[in-house]
Amino acid sequence: MPQVTPPLIVGGGLAGAAAAIDLAHAGLPSLLLEREAHAHDKICGEFLSGEAVAALAGLGVDARALGAEPITRVEIHAGHREASAALPFPALSLSRRVLDEALLQHAAAVGTEVQRGVSVRGLMDGMAQTTAGDISASALLLASGKHDVRGLPRPDGPDEIGFKMYFRDAALSRRLAGTVAVTFFDGGYAGLQPVEGGRLNLCLLVDGAHYRQLGSWPALLARLVTEPALAALADAEPLLPRPLAISRVPYGHLVGTPTDGLWRLGDQAAVIPSFCGDGMAIALESGRLAAAMLAQGATAAAYSQELLGRTRRPVRLAMVALSVARHPLGRLAAIAGLSAIPGGLALLARLTRVADPHAPESRLAPA
Ligand SMILES: Cc1cc2nc3c(=O)[nH]c(=O)nc-3n(C[C@H](O)[C@H](O)[C@H](O)COP(=O)(O)OP(=O)(O)OC[C@H]3O[C@@H](n4cnc5c(N)ncnc54)[C@H](O)[C@@H]3O)c2cc1C
Repeated sequence: MPQVTPPLIVGGGLAGAAAAIDLAHAGLPSLLLEREAHAHDKICGEFLSGEAVAALAGLGVDARALGAEPITRVEIHAGHREASAALPFPALSLSRRVLDEALLQHAAAVGTEVQRGVSVRGLMDGMAQTTAGDISASALLLASGKHDVRGLPRPDGPDEIGFKMYFRDAALSRRLAGTVAVTFFDGGYAGLQPVEGGRLNLCLLVDGAHYRQLGSWPALLARLVTEPALAALADAEPLLPRPLAISRVPYGHLVGTPTDGLWRLGDQAAVIPSFCGDGMAIALESGRLAAAMLAQGATAAAYSQELLGRTRRPVRLAMVALSVARHPLGRLAAIAGLSAIPGGLALLARLTRVADPHAPESRLAPA
């Protein structure tokens, strides 16, 4: 006989944990299944936007108290050209290993039943097939992030590979204190920023054909350090035995109005290009929105419509910015334009923010 449970959340990343915390606060504690047994590194630039920081605070998690580094400036590089600006919001930088673990522990502390090392293999008709047996649930919340559950694929993304590596280099850390540096190069783009523990996070996306031509991570790194903004990494100490990697991220994915009754959260619902640094805010806010609407008795379809209204515009604008940045001439023109227009970079950063559902008024009206 399958177990009967309260709402079941698949995945204990930001979206799943946020939903669990708010459901517990609403008097509807859930069961959350996370396939990883322990805290772990995740592929992510680890740039926490102002919206993400605010959403965390709303959940009762203080990223600064967890050791987050302040980020106040953004630099954009393409070859020897550069534009820089103060960020229009206070941002932070914190490793996902620390952040996701803190959220999961908080979810458990407020009443969520968190089961770790349990993987969901399929979802159907209010039932989850898991490595710990079948579980039926009053609502199924799919928050498996970058990983699709069997039978529920998102569209394939472009032939691009994401990599993340931590480095240590005292001089570079000093130069980049408070700064996220984004470098566009032929075949991809990379973000470099300090994270807690005196480390630097290099997170990049590279065209698959370009990477296969280079043939290996050391060859890719050798190519990257030919970029003026990344040259100092040649002398930095890599801190992971090998980089974390992911392929075919479906940037631009926006779930419509599904009819299968599943509540899709985070990257399962909307995927904004990474260089905008707002994927975590979307994940957190989708989790919070789902919890609020579920507690009010709304349907999964109504939630999806509401989330789509909030995410469509920033995701589409970010896709336009990404296609400009992918083109060599486009990115040179963009850097020249952004340097010439005071506040241009700050405006672009604002336009690619998702609206905060908890703000008294949304800065981006639903499209
Ligand atoms: C290269 C790259 C760089 C990025 N940089 C940034 C950035 O700097 N700032 C930013 O805001 N966003 C960034 N993002 C986006 C951000 O990482 C995601 O939007 C965010 O992690 C989504 O959160 P989530 O909770 O939906 O999924 P995830 O964080 O992926 O969490 C999903 C969880 O579900 C678990 N899981 C998966 N499948 C199962 C299963 N079958 N059963 C049980 N558990 C399961 C996983 O183990 C994981 O813990 C970046 C993304 C990429 C690809």
